[in-house]
Amino acid sequence: MNHTSAQILDNNATNTLTSFDHIIINANLATFSAQYGFDIYSDNQSNNQSNDQNKSTPYGQLENAAIGIKDGKIAWVGTHKQIKPHLTHYKSDQIKDVHGNWITPGLIDCHTHIVYGGNRSNEFEARLQGASYQDIAAQGGGIVSTVSATRAANEEELFIQSEKRLLALIKEGVTSIEIKSGYGLDLDTERKMLKVARALGDKHHIHVSTTYLAAHALPPEYKDRADDYIEQVCQWLPILHSEGLVDAVDGFCENIAFSSEQIKRVFDVARSLDLPVKLHSEQLSNIGASALVADYQGLSSDHLEHLAEDDIKKMAASNTVAVLLPGAFYTLRDTKLPPIEELRKHHVPMAISTDCNPGTSPLTSLLLAMNMGCTLFYLTTEEVLAGATVHAAQALGLTKKGKIEVGCDADLVLWDIARPADLAYQMGLNPIAGIMVQGRWRETV
Ligand SMILES: [Zn+2]
Repeated sequence: MNHTSAQILDNNATNTLTSFDHIIINANLATFSAQYGFDIYSDNQSNNQSNDQNKSTPYGQLENAAIGIKDGKIAWVGTHKQIKPHLTHYKSDQIKDVHGNWITPGLIDCHTHIVYGGNRSNEFEARLQGASYQDIAAQGGGIVSTVSATRAANEEELFIQSEKRLLALIKEGVTSIEIKSGYGLDLDTERKMLKVARALGDKHHIHVSTTYLAAHALPPEYKDRADDYIEQVCQWLPILHSEGLVDAVDGFCENIAFSSEQIKRVFDVARSLDLPVKLHSEQLSNIGASALVADYQGLSSDHLEHLAEDDIKKMAASNTVAVLLPGAFYTLRDTKLPPIEELRKHHVPMAISTDCNPGTSPLTSLLLAMNMGCTLFYLTTEEVLAGATVHAAQALGLTKKGKIEVGCDADLVLWDIARPADLAYQMGLNPIAGIMVQGRWRETV
């Protein structure tokens, strides 16, 4: 019996549709995939579901859709109608009917400092009673107090303190997170922080990208010897990398921290080890940080309130993501907005993150960071959702996360919402209804 090629294709498709580990049905998907029309900088967005090549679809949305999952990956995306005849091949616990609720990719928090000892609520309290930053620094406060507390904590204590913050993020649908070192400022404590970051990911089955940030601040023992300290930072990096603890390299390039020449020395070591770079850039002034990141084809340049248009062009050319951190803007009562319109104009992808840290952004809600991105930075709801999914994945160099399409990791979040914009609109309400990581539903949310 002869089959036409069309019949063979159809038979193959039928085999595929009956062999998934899990199926999600009756779903509305915010895919953030170009395959389904996601194109945030297109001038002609349409609200219909057309995959017409000339039209983009907000959020890359697909309604009345279904997803097939196999071996921890998204194996198929289609319509409910396509999968319906094949549902009899599955046991009831393999099928999840989500009754028209929305599914997004697992959220990604791409810039955090969640591993640290102690906290700084005493300084928050003192400042509101009139103490100045100088008063607090003179009493050993500020970043130095976090460095002391982080050095003093053993690995288990640091894990327990940091785990609370991680769990708060996970409960809101974060399935991938970046965690930086940078409160040790000596080899042993930087190692301890990175080990805790890895251990948190292992215990809670989420993806952790670790970032070496020893060039965060000058430790007190190197006062007035910043170049000597940078030499140490350069020497520690290959050691920690050889221990499997480093996925990327970061620094704080600012008048009050390190110069671009000093950061360049660290980046040269990173490049020799094939490690990607990123930078805390243009938060308080412009000393050429984003231009430096672009020179090294960096993954991201972060903060950016004082970013200049020439640097934006360089970021666009090097495909560097702009990571925006409204939690720090809010906490510092900053008034200088990042240049959102110019970033749009040059099609630089924008990510949103909590920047969770004990000093300038004690924020453990990525949903609230998204809301702040809209309210404080005038981003659109589509921009902040893309900023916590597909663009955050790009900021971490994760090509198989942050979108719903075949071949990507099955990291998915189910939300009890009517429209994707609800996620950025509401403050303090967590509408989560399910979390899948690498093809497995989490037992408890
Ligand atoms: Zn930061």
